[in-house]
Amino acid sequence: MRKKILIGLGLFSLIFILGGTYTIISVEQSIAKLNTLIKLHQVEILREHLLIQVKKVQGDLGLKNTRYAKGFGTLVTDVGQMSGVADTCFDCHHKEDIMRRLTELRSRIELYKSSISRAFLVRAGAGREIGEQENAYKVGEQIIADLDNIIVLSESRLEKRTDQIDREVANTKTAMFVLLVLQPLLIMGLAVIFTKRFTSSIDSLMEATRKVKAGDLNYRINGLEDEFGIVANSFNEMATSVQRMYDELQRTEQISILGQLAAGLAHEIKNPLAGIKAFMEIMSEDSCLPEEDMATLAKVLGEVKRIEYLMKDLLNFARPPLPQLNETSINRRMESMLSIVALSAKKADGREVLIKKELGEGIPPTMADPLQLEQAFLNLLMNALDAMPDGGTLSVKTSYHRPSGSILVIISDTGKGIQPGMEGRIFQPFFTTKAKGTGLGLAITKRLIEQHGGRILAENNPGGGASFKIVLPVQQKSKTEGQEKGEREDIHS
Ligand code: ADP
Repeated sequence: MRKKILIGLGLFSLIFILGGTYTIISVEQSIAKLNTLIKLHQVEILREHLLIQVKKVQGDLGLKNTRYAKGFGTLVTDVGQMSGVADTCFDCHHKEDIMRRLTELRSRIELYKSSISRAFLVRAGAGREIGEQENAYKVGEQIIADLDNIIVLSESRLEKRTDQIDREVANTKTAMFVLLVLQPLLIMGLAVIFTKRFTSSIDSLMEATRKVKAGDLNYRINGLEDEFGIVANSFNEMATSVQRMYDELQRTEQISILGQLAAGLAHEIKNPLAGIKAFMEIMSEDSCLPEEDMATLAKVLGEVKRIEYLMKDLLNFARPPLPQLNETSINRRMESMLSIVALSAKKADGREVLIKKELGEGIPPTMADPLQLEQAFLNLLMNALDAMPDGGTLSVKTSYHRPSGSILVIISDTGKGIQPGMEGRIFQPFFTTKAKGTGLGLAITKRLIEQHGGRILAENNPGGGASFKIVLPVQQKSKTEGQEKGEREDIHS
């Protein structure tokens, strides 16, 4: 948009400069034309002036030897004036042909002057004097005829030139008038186009804001460019993240309701279930029962225990106990859980899972609930075993990242991996792909890790299997007496 504003300003300036330049040039050209016209008229006046002077001298010549004759002094003045006017004609610059005609005229005037002087000065008898006078008179008449000719010719040409210059000046006036009217119109038109583009972008943004405010979180702005395009992109990104947060909030609300419901249900089921379990256990102790019934009883007891675990998980998820913080060694907690898992790593059916551990050194103890961390680790380790029904390798790695002050725990397996497209769903409660799964293990694990200020991520390994990464910040709290006791227990256990 900044570029467009600059282009717009440039256009406005260009229109002003072009209009101004055209006006200045036109005015200058008109003045030059009018100057030429004035000069031509001055030349015309000069010619007529010369004609009058020649006629005056002719008059002096005609009146010679009459009682109206003027004195010799007057004649000299008149001839001098005539010659002066003729000389003035040479002052201006002329074209070659005009110059030639002027030279002819001047030599004729020179001839006229010498003829006049002879007519007045020769004293060789009346006859000769009259002859000289007539001769001079004839030269004068010739000059008058020439001048008349020139004046008639030049008058018509001057008239044509005057008309042409009049027309040209009138055209310039019209063009300037049109320019004067068009220029503001053009500038206004451009201003309207620019303003419209500008305001239409703002309108789109305002409309989008109104839509999102009214709850239409799917509304996106399209087709805006430049800086407005950047603002629109940010707006769209904001709308997307608001929508994501809204969805997340809705899901959390649903989970919370579901959790409450499940917790209520679990609570109601727990007591009758305990009764059934106790009854079954008493019955199974009765050795008089036939073997077939004993097997059935064991099956029922197994299923009751499964329901019991599910109820425990449900309650754990719905009402997670607050973490009891003690200084905890992550490696020690992991070792303890690995020893439990190792029992299941080798099954009777021959499957074998190799356990590889790489527990980093120098990991500082952190304030955490050791039981909750053990539960989280166990869930992940058991899941890894579940993912490798035909055996494989279970790798556990812990390390400490000093700059960020966090502990990294990676649990990976060489199993079947997370089903494609399910990476985002496996942490949701009740999501399971297992026939006898509850879908609560990872949801509980995530909650436990987050309760400790950490994060958990899952991804498939490029070579097969899945990896779960836990990032836990090392928390060092001021120690209370009770905590110190717990710490000692944890460190020495
Ligand atoms: P459950 O074990 O009862 O299914 P979880 O919340 O522990 O519940 O796991 C949810 C789902 O995540 C599992 O059903 C499985 O599809 C997937 N999952 C968990 N761990 C792994 C793993 N190591 N490899 C592949 N998929 C896994």
